[in-house]
Order: sequence, then C-alpha cells, then structure tokens
Amino acid sequence: MVLPGPRARGLVAAARAAQGRRVGSAEGSPRGDPASRRAALYVHWPYCEKRCSYCNFNKYVARGGVDEAALRRCLVTEAHTLLALGGVHRVDSVFFGGGTPSLASPHTVAALLEAVAQVAHLPADSEVTLEVNPTSAPGSRLAEFGAAGVNRLSIGLQSLDDAELQLLGRTHSARDALRTLAAARRLFPGRVSVDLMLGLPGQQLGPWLGQLRELLRHCDDHLSLYQLSLERGTALFAQVQRGAVPAPDPELAAEMYAEGRALLRTAGFRQYEVSNFARRGALSTHNWTYWQCGQYLGVGPGAHGRFVPHGAGCHTREARIQTLEPDNWMREVIQFGHGTRKRVPLDELELLEEVLAMGLRTDVGITHQHWRQFESQLTLWDVFGASEEVKRLQEQGLLLLDHRGLRCSWEGLAVLDSLLLTLLPRLQEVWWQRSPPPVPGG
Ligand code: SF4
Repeated sequence: MVLPGPRARGLVAAARAAQGRRVGSAEGSPRGDPASRRAALYVHWPYCEKRCSYCNFNKYVARGGVDEAALRRCLVTEAHTLLALGGVHRVDSVFFGGGTPSLASPHTVAALLEAVAQVAHLPADSEVTLEVNPTSAPGSRLAEFGAAGVNRLSIGLQSLDDAELQLLGRTHSARDALRTLAAARRLFPGRVSVDLMLGLPGQQLGPWLGQLRELLRHCDDHLSLYQLSLERGTALFAQVQRGAVPAPDPELAAEMYAEGRALLRTAGFRQYEVSNFARRGALSTHNWTYWQCGQYLGVGPGAHGRFVPHGAGCHTREARIQTLEPDNWMREVIQFGHGTRKRVPLDELELLEEVLAMGLRTDVGITHQHWRQFESQLTLWDVFGASEEVKRLQEQGLLLLDHRGLRCSWEGLAVLDSLLLTLLPRLQEVWWQRSPPPVPGG
C-alpha cells in the first residue's frame, strides 16, 4: 500500500537540511542505470470498501460505485504512455497495490498485463503481485486473479485479534484472514505474503508474540512486520488525541520488533529487509527493485515512479507523482495520455543518497559493484573508509565495510535510521569536497 522506504527518503531530506548545503539543481546528468531499458511497474487501484482508522494512503470510498471500464482504459493508456516515455523494453515485475486492488475485477488485471505485454517484454516468470484484503477475496476470486496472470499475493492480514482489527477499522475478522490465507496458499503455493502490524494502542508484547506464533503455523514463505504509524488526520489519531485509546508506546513497539525478528529467525526466515522476512528464497523481486534503486513506473492515481524519461529526450532520472484524485487523474489521462502531476529531476548526489538509504535496508547492503553502477569515481572506501564515526559504528558491531561492500549487521539493521544520521552527512561532505556547490550570488 505504500512504497518501501518513505522514512529513508525522509531521512535523506533531513540529512540535507542538517548539512545546510544548497542542493544542486538538475544540472549535470546522473549516470543512468545501465539497465535503463528495464523497469518494474506499480499499478495503483485507489478504491476501498471503507476507510481503516489508521490509514492515510491515497484511497477513496466510491459512494456511487466505480466506473471500472473507464478507470481500466485510463490505467492502460497511462501504462502505455509511461512505458514509451521511459523507453522500457522489459518489465521485470508488476505490483497491483492500493487502496484495495482485490476489489478490481480480474478482467482489469488481465487488461493491464496484456497492455504491458503489447509494448514491452513481460517474461512469463515475472513476479505479478496483487494486494489482497481478506473480505474482498474469497477463494474463487483469487483463482480468477490467478487466471488473469497474478502469481503472488500479499494479504493485508494486520492482526489475528478481532478487537485489534476492529480498532483498526478493518472489514475482516481473524477467521476471515486465516481462511483467505489458506485459500491463497492452495492456489499460489510458496508465493503468498502476509502483513502483520505491531505497536498498536494497548497492544502488549506477550499476546502479540502469541499472534506471531499462531501466524507461523498458518503462513507461507513471506511475512512483513509493520509498525503502526499514527498519522494526523486519521480517525485513530483523533481517538488517541481525545484519550479514547492509549497512545502507542514506541519503546514497546521496538521490543516487539526485536522479539519478532528473533522469533522469525528461529523459524528459518531470512530478514532480507528491515520489514520483510522470507524463507526458501521467497523474496519479493518487485520490492527488491525499489531497494536497489532500479527504475520503476507508477501508474494510477497518486502512484510514484522513478525513471529516466528517454522519450522526452532526458537523461536524468526523475521522481514522478501522478495526480492524486481519481476523477482529476482520469481527465488528465484522457487529455494528455498520463496524469503526471509532479516531476522532480534527481541530481547525482540525490540518487546516491537513495542508493545508500534504500540499499542499507537490505541484509546484502550495497556491494561495491552495485555502487559503481551509480558512481564510478568515488568508491565506498573513498566515502566511508576514513571516517572516524563510521569506524566507531563498525567497532560497535552495527555496520560492516569490507571487500563485499557496506551493510548493516543484524543488530545494525534494527537501528538503521540512526546509522543514516551519520552516513548521509558523510556522503554529502565527501561529495561537496569533490565538487563544491555554487556559491550563492557568486
Ligand atoms: S484497505 Fe488499505 S488502503 Fe484501504 S483504507 Fe484500509 S489500510 Fe487504507
């Protein structure tokens, strides 16, 4: 439902502000990814049955129903436009997120996949994920999605406690969730993920670990743990403000995360990213593209993308955001072929900051080879090798810099945000020493 790493991107911005440096404009052209003709594709379905109490995603509840045929046509048009603009020859993965994309018809999913395959190579074994809400996805419907081309499901289970599900405003019960999970595993063995939340108001460590143990008896090979983020403007935020429910306790949430990841490790799951766990190699290749700073196109209202728009004669990677509101977005797609509302060219340093902040979210970190794809002159050793602060983090056993590259230790992965507060300013410092920013008024 959200792109992985918004927090990391927030840290990038904060580190820049702290550095007090003027960020270069779109001048220069960051070296494009050598795989610049490949991309992942994210498709946003903006509608939900009702609003969950904690949710601040770009979603809408359509009171008068959804004109799905019109929405489908616009999604297809925008996918064609952006694939052409990006000069994308090969789509490695497709992710249908939302909102609640399992409310869309399987026909819409099939139409999108066909549209992609008309203009780019979509290998038969490409990962095609659909986010699923338990109440909108009985087994028969899941089978139809499978026939439409979906081969991986991500189930928004969130909790196995009915009182918590009610607090979250979810439309499903724990029983619904387990039933959907069982049906999903029968249809997509080894390719089902579940989301479990932690840090809810009033939640206690012991019962939450009990939920996780229960989930381990039912789940497939992929699991994501997400800490509740209490967002201003949500119903849950208001409930906490007026004292109707207790405020979430961040220290308790940190304890849950620590105990949860240890439990998952014991159960044979590899924590391959801050929030994501897989066994038997069931990693999400789509999300891996985000963490590796690969190119991705975002199609649909409010979708985000990052790619080089070759078709417009550009050589610079851009962060793109599509228009949020579905009716406005559709009008723009009908008029212009796409509903891109915002384009932000990423300069070389910004791209490197993302490579650092996103790459360190994974257990592999940033290999020397990966870094060289984005920066051929400054090595990881040049940037971090001589830093006393980085040495201290290594001595504390939180960070490793060696022949493989730069990565967090198991302990470091749990405190990545604090490591980035050291690493990002260091990168900026070394970068500006090499190529000082223009002096204002100079
Ligand atoms: S189903 Fe997902 S996107 Fe929709 S309101 Fe709930 S959390 Fe938000």
